[in-house]
Amino acid sequence: MEDMITNCPSCDAEIVFDDDAEEGEIIECPECGIELEIVSLDPAEVQEAAEEEEDWSE
Ligand SMILES: [Zn+2]
Repeated sequence: MEDMITNCPSCDAEIVFDDDAEEGEIIECPECGIELEIVSLDPAEVQEAAEEEEDWSE
């Protein structure tokens, strides 16, 4: 198993997933500390996790 590597969308730091990472898991960027949601494992891809609570109702 290889580590999966991508970059932080905010600060471009290298983000390395363990091979037991799962889609939907929230990880923290080691550089800037923002929360990142794993959206894909192959290819490795993350997006900024929404900081706000779910607030869809008007
Ligand atoms: Zn970052």
